Formats: sequence, C-alpha cells, structure tokens
Amino acid sequence: MKLADIIGHQPVKDKLSELLTTGKLPHAMMILAPEGAGGLPMALAIAQNLVCERRSGRKEEDAGLFGAPSMFGDPEPAPQSSEPLSDACGECPACQKAQKFIHPDIHYTYPVVTGRNKSGPPVSADYITDWRKALAENPYMNANEWLRQITDENKQGNITVNECHEIIKGMNLKTFESKYKIQIIWMAEYLREAGNTLLKIIEEPPADTVFILVVENIELILNTIISRTQVVKLPAIEDVDLAAYLRSQFEMDERTALRIARISDGNLNAAVEYANGAEHQNDAQLREWLSVCLRIRGAQASEPSLKLMAFVDEIAKIGRENQKIFLKYFLWFLRESNLLALGLESDKLEGSELEFAKKLATLLDPDVTENLTNLINRVHYYVERNTNPKIVFLSTSFKIAAILKKEPVAYDMYE
Ligand SMILES: [Zn+2]
Repeated sequence: MKLADIIGHQPVKDKLSELLTTGKLPHAMMILAPEGAGGLPMALAIAQNLVCERRSGRKEEDAGLFGAPSMFGDPEPAPQSSEPLSDACGECPACQKAQKFIHPDIHYTYPVVTGRNKSGPPVSADYITDWRKALAENPYMNANEWLRQITDENKQGNITVNECHEIIKGMNLKTFESKYKIQIIWMAEYLREAGNTLLKIIEEPPADTVFILVVENIELILNTIISRTQVVKLPAIEDVDLAAYLRSQFEMDERTALRIARISDGNLNAAVEYANGAEHQNDAQLREWLSVCLRIRGAQASEPSLKLMAFVDEIAKIGRENQKIFLKYFLWFLRESNLLALGLESDKLEGSELEFAKKLATLLDPDVTENLTNLINRVHYYVERNTNPKIVFLSTSFKIAAILKKEPVAYDMYE
C-alpha cells in the first residue's frame, strides 16, 4: 500500500512523507485511529515506504528537492492533489512483496484465537495465510470482521505472551532484504498485560527497527507502552474525501455520495455499507414513518392505519441489512436534529433534510431524544437477531408515537 492509496488524511501523509524523507521517523509509533479511518492502511504504507528501493524524494538521492533544507525555509505550499510529498514507488521488487504482505522484513502481529492446528497459546503466524487474504480484501477491516474470518465461534481474540516472544525474536534477527525491520502490531489493545513483555524492546530496539502499533482505543493500552511511543493521531476521514472515494467505487451523484459520507462519521466500512443500500431512500422512508407515527391516536391503538401497515410492509421487504442501515440513519438523523433542538447548528444537514430536521427538532427535548435513541438501538438489536420485521416495526411505531407524546414506554418489543 502506498501513502497515495490511503483515503484522505493529507496532512498526516505529508508529515509522514517528510519524516520518511529526512530519516526522522520515530522508531516506535502508535497510530491512534477510530474504526474505519485507516490506521492499519497507514501502517502498511509506512512499512512499504521504508522497504521501497525507489522511493521518490529519498534523502540520499535528492535531498534538495524534498529533504531537510526545506524544513527551515518557507513552508511549501500544500499540494492540491491527494498525492503525498513523496511515496513508495509501488513497482520495485520490495514494493511488490510488501503489497502481497510477504516482505520478509515486515512482521505482523494481530489478535488471534486458540485452536488452529495446535493446543498451546496461539501466535499470529498460525493465521498468516488468512491475514494476507483479509488484508488484500479490506485493509480497513475491524477486529470483529477479522476474528469472524478465523473462527466460527464467538471467541475473543488475543495477542499472547508467546507472540510477544516471537516479536522479540524477530526484531533481533538480521534484516533479510531491507535496511529496516518493521513490526506492525495491529489492535495493540489485545496485548493487555502481555504488553509488559515488550517494554524493553520498544524502549531500546535493535538498530534500524521500527515499531508501528495500531490502536483504536488508547485507554486500553498500558501507560508504560504509550510513554515509549510517539502517538500519531488519525482523525475520522473527512466527508469530502470519503465522498470522493464513494464516487470512485459506486455509481452515484455527488449529493448522494456526500450525504452518505456525512452519516458515516468518517468510517469507511460504514460508508460502503450505506452506499450498498443507497438505492433505498432512507430519508424519505424515515419521513413517512415518523409522520404515520405522529398520526397514531393513543399508544395502544389496536387498529393500525392503512398507511402504517403499508409502511411496515415496505420496510419488511428491504431486508435485514437495509433495515439496519435505515435504523443507523435514523440514529444519525436524530442526533443532528437534536443539535437543532438545542439551538445549535448542524453542518451536515441541508435542503429538504434540514427542513425535516427542523420540524422533528420541535418535538425533541433531552428525554425524548434519549428515549428514541434507546428504542432505536434496541430495535437494531432485534433486527440483528432476525426477529420478524413486521412485528418489530409495527410495535416500534406505537412506541415512537408514545415517546413523542412524552408517555412512558418499554423498549422491549413484547411489552
Ligand atoms: Zn518501491
């Protein structure tokens, strides 16, 4: 993976480019990125840059162009494209190996489960074939998606003390082909207390060794590890970058792409999921649902209106995955409408969606918003577990009606 292949994050790419070019990359970094923002792709790109034989802008080749001197002069104007200042070539033998995840000097550690061909504590290498396949398919994957690829059971992943010993062994070997040895530890949260085993090697690594820890939740990392690494924060992907990516992958107009980007919170996986369901008009459907809910007289109305039944039939037809997307859209829309209810502004709403949100905002107060949020999260739970959608959405309609009228309501579907 080249830096240029990463969606968005131009300032971080430029900074890393500069550090790589000037040879000032820290020997231990922690990339802190929310799910779906590209923490692992960034680690892969740094590793490939370190092993590439024909990196553009290398210090020893053309330091004057990209190297140290420019750091002291006027700042360079930011490039307009998404290309970083300098990057791996993508074509040399080292890049080709890195791109297939088979470069002998790039080592990977990731959470694994017990039970593959042996009884003892597992190490990452036990699953290397699955790992390469998963990375080739989606380097933006999350830990759960990865673990479901290596076990059918609901096992928790782990990075074991045995794996830490493997890391130490690997980092003490001579390099095979490159100047650098790179150790990527993906989802370092899974190290837990085993992280203590790595303190010494992270603090005093063998020469030309680079540790790249990829982390989503820094609170789960030992302080002693955090203090030994340089933290690189990767924010959620910007809406415009995500929208541009969606348009390159799906046939959709600019407005739809931007709308999907906005409800995805900078998470690529969520955006792709929404884009796959984009043919369903979530906003129109939500508007229809809320307006029939508002017309329900009395929370226990025994005769649902024809309009309500039509909505329930319609939503049952779109299938479980699209129902989940619809519910996530509802939660997002509620959050944005709540901003308006609080007298704040939403920078994500526009046009007819904004008009609708303004109307919904007049019905919201902190209790109503919280109750609706809890309810819809609960509905998401039922949909995920394959509960009959007609029952779920019909029952939920009455509960929404009750909440909007500020009546008490049970979140359980059968109450
Ligand atoms: Zn190369």
